[in-house]
Amino acid sequence: MAVDGLSVQLTAPNGRSYTQPTGLYINGQWVKSDGGVTLASTDPATEKHIVSVQSGSKSDIDKAVAAARAALKAPAWKSLQSSDRGRLLYRLADLVDEHRETLATIETWDNGKPYTVALNEDMAEVTGTLRYYAGFSDKVFGQVMELSPDKFAYTVREPVGVCGQIIPWNYPLSMAAWKLGPALACGNTVVLKPAEQTPLSILYFVNLIAEAGFPPGVVNIINGRGSEAGAALASHPDVDKIAFTGSTATAREIMRMAAGTLKNLTLETGGKSPLIVFDDAELDNAVEWAHLGIMSNQGQICTATSRILVQEGVYRRFVDAFKQQIREVSRVGDPFDEATYQGPQVTRAQHERILQYIDPTVFTDVTPGMRIFQEEVFGPFVAIMPFRTEEEAVELANGTQYGLGSAVFTTNLTRAHRVARAVESGMVWINSSNDCDWRIPFGGVKQSGIGRELGEAGLEAYSNVKAIHVNMKSKL
Ligand code: ADP
Repeated sequence: MAVDGLSVQLTAPNGRSYTQPTGLYINGQWVKSDGGVTLASTDPATEKHIVSVQSGSKSDIDKAVAAARAALKAPAWKSLQSSDRGRLLYRLADLVDEHRETLATIETWDNGKPYTVALNEDMAEVTGTLRYYAGFSDKVFGQVMELSPDKFAYTVREPVGVCGQIIPWNYPLSMAAWKLGPALACGNTVVLKPAEQTPLSILYFVNLIAEAGFPPGVVNIINGRGSEAGAALASHPDVDKIAFTGSTATAREIMRMAAGTLKNLTLETGGKSPLIVFDDAELDNAVEWAHLGIMSNQGQICTATSRILVQEGVYRRFVDAFKQQIREVSRVGDPFDEATYQGPQVTRAQHERILQYIDPTVFTDVTPGMRIFQEEVFGPFVAIMPFRTEEEAVELANGTQYGLGSAVFTTNLTRAHRVARAVESGMVWINSSNDCDWRIPFGGVKQSGIGRELGEAGLEAYSNVKAIHVNMKSKL
């Protein structure tokens, strides 16, 4: 039932009723798109239409950027004490806790991920990240450098400015929190564009941002197509920074568009992360983590350990146990059913894209040149191959364009750390896979990205260091 044209009352498949906003959020107001265009949101489990939301055009992006620019200069934000910025973020985290069941319901309905995962993992990540950066709000400061009795310099950390944030569909709210937390802690303003496949949860979250008390224009949310709203944001001359999470191909496009005004960039892109199992590994542990590393979140994780390299002495045993683990754990089903491990892929298009790798490929005897060894599939899809020596394992692990995560299973302490240093990746898991924590920097090398999110390192992406030289001598 339409309430005011920009929100509807919905009842999700689990029976939860709530008010779903459908507008664009610019300068603290819900508005319609200038172009009158909408985006249809679909339940991937049933392929039924859920609701259509406003889809931003270039002129909507112009308005949102202007609002973010004005908010950056307005005393309500610029003059706010740093501890008060932190208080707003803490308040937002508390509101997410209060609304976590509704937020998780929307996430599952729109994205297809199991409800238990959305509720217990994603929502914890959202609040954990917001609180972590809330605590940093009043701890972002510079240094004093003494040079001589007459001269010294000091540094201050200033906001980068108006930040365009373009996020993906695999963890809609978590990815928003990863980007909003540090941006707002550092005093920036934001125009955020969610992915067109998952526009809904962030719109509900917007109401919480407003309720927390963020001044109008500090956070603006524009759903829309990547090629239109996304491109307009990435190329906008008055945007200072773009933070992007998505595919490597789109990141290249974004870099090109951002080059026009030499924007500050943070890119978190694709991966083909290796998981190396040595003969001396605890095999059961390796199998469990290997399974989680590729099957959780329907395989739709940029850090998914999608290439498993197993030393030949345990190769057969590993493959048998891994298949057994899939049979026992990876139950496919209705995402609202508590017993479900695998919900649907996010869209039919994505499902078909994954199948195109399978038909007519045979998986035994995978070699490094094969597409399934090199390309990111972004689904519950894994290539397994044997290796003989540590040297060979490292060479295979490093043999792709990507460098996001990597996992090493061994009980040999020195080998664990030696391999951790030899693999080309931004993150290494020793005897686990896909551990992720807001306190730990996240990001890639090679074509897996530029810059870091999360941890203290994540703050660097959202502040500029200004050096101020002071001369106290009156004659040169
Ligand atoms: P995927 O292929 O997995 O959907 P994308 O990298 O295409 O991943 O999408 C990630 C985000 O980037 C989404 O919000 C999408 O709308 C946006 N996007 C896609 N194409 C562009 C583009 N040309 N310019 C800016 N943003 C884009």
